[in-house]
Amino acid sequence: MMSLHESMLRKTLQSDPQSRRWFLNVMGRVSALSVAAGELRAGGPARLSADPFTLGVASGDPDEKSVVLWTRLAPEPLQPGGGMPPEFVDVRCEIATDDAMKNVVQSRTIAATPQLGHSVHVEMEGLEPDRWYWYRFRCGDAESPVGRTRTMPRAEALPPHVRFAVTSCQNYEQGLFTAYEQMAKDDPDLVFHLGDYIYEYEAGRNGKVRTHLGKEIVGLDDYRIRYAQYRSDPALRHMHAQCPWMVTWDDHEFDNNCAGAVSEELDVDPVEYLVRRANAYQAYYEMMPLRPSQMPRNCDMELYRKVSFGRLADFLMLDTRQYRSDQPNNDRKSPLNDAALDTRQTMLGAEQKGWLYQNLIRSTSCWNVLAQQVMMGMVNRSGDPEVLQYSMDQWPGYAYERMRLVEFLRDRHVSNPVVLTGDIHTNWANELRVDDRREDEPTVATEFVATSLTSGGNGVDRPGNWEAVVSTNPCVKFHNAERGYIRCEVTPQAWRSDYMVISDVLQPGGETTVRRSLVVESGKARIQEA
Ligand code: FE
Ligand code: CA
Repeated sequence: MMSLHESMLRKTLQSDPQSRRWFLNVMGRVSALSVAAGELRAGGPARLSADPFTLGVASGDPDEKSVVLWTRLAPEPLQPGGGMPPEFVDVRCEIATDDAMKNVVQSRTIAATPQLGHSVHVEMEGLEPDRWYWYRFRCGDAESPVGRTRTMPRAEALPPHVRFAVTSCQNYEQGLFTAYEQMAKDDPDLVFHLGDYIYEYEAGRNGKVRTHLGKEIVGLDDYRIRYAQYRSDPALRHMHAQCPWMVTWDDHEFDNNCAGAVSEELDVDPVEYLVRRANAYQAYYEMMPLRPSQMPRNCDMELYRKVSFGRLADFLMLDTRQYRSDQPNNDRKSPLNDAALDTRQTMLGAEQKGWLYQNLIRSTSCWNVLAQQVMMGMVNRSGDPEVLQYSMDQWPGYAYERMRLVEFLRDRHVSNPVVLTGDIHTNWANELRVDDRREDEPTVATEFVATSLTSGGNGVDRPGNWEAVVSTNPCVKFHNAERGYIRCEVTPQAWRSDYMVISDVLQPGGETTVRRSLVVESGKARIQEA
């Protein structure tokens, strides 16, 4: 195995870097092997000219006895290769029970490999349930910042509460990530990032306060550099070091409004598009605190997974982009016509849907949370009952599957289903019914849609057609178009969502405050004022 690995590695390094198709062919095998071998075999000693920890540290995907600890070595993060030599490099990782790193309980040395952009994903095992830890990395003489993380409570425990933040849509050009400073003060147990962590656009497309580097991103190095540029924001880096994150992507981690392997543009070579997707997915994996079991294979990457906070809450992280069928009605806002209601339209794909339904049936959790990308509320965005405009990129474009899913939640008596959503750069709180157009049906689930952290720049409390949209869509209980995130506190009795909004993302010093607090009592699925 070692010699096979080494010969494949040598081939990778010697191959023409432009020969991406060959690279893709072996990538699935090489990357898995290189990580496995990295565990067995120490890499070379680090000979780095500058601090390799410019991208900070992060943790994610905790369970009751383990958590992923992440870093990526990049002394020059905005250069191709990150300023690293094309070699294995040893990285040591330590985890302690104190913030001074005095009581180290475990340490591991693994090799950061050039195949994975010198990213490091350490699954630190054998930890105690339901407690905080601190961790750091060393490489040669360099030492990373100390990060803080935690494990989840035991599966059978019923903890008194969990606190978490829900964020999405952080266009770097359109605003500063200042709201993460308040999120750090909120001291959440977990952060859920629901996609649009980066935007793929060329420099200046949305330029307001900062500028992307280069053209629209296509190649692996383009995506890597874009993530590095986003992570150069100190508030984002700081928040990653505060607690574990659960991440999932939406479209812009790859390409605007992508649907499976289908581009929104008509003149795209489908093979080139899949090569681009492989680059996008690999860079995402490299940059996020994900388990090696999520590592992409060729142009696919399994991102749907579950995290449980004891029996208090199950969080089902969904991927509504990779497996979906193409948007109906040419992705134009449309009535819920035959194309939108077509039974063949799928948002989740068969395998993910089976996984989701099985987990919901088996769940013994008080709250069952679908953490996902696009709005499930069937909202007529025109606000005019005579003019029906439902978003075909969101669940209404997949209305049959969506209504069956809510029916399933209802008929199987799934305990307290809650949907968390990003994508549309506005805040919403929706009461979900099998068919949201029918007010006479019972409310089955609750949806909290988090606005963008920055995308769109500074917003307004009430957008232009606010009155019409809120008064003509019975499912909508709250709607707002400022920037921010949602802060949640959940107990066995109730779920509270604080809609956090920031006064200004265009200059430093924006103040983040609570715009509205809403509560759902266990067993009720109705949204009330806090
Ligand atoms: Fe977005
Ligand atoms: Ca999006």
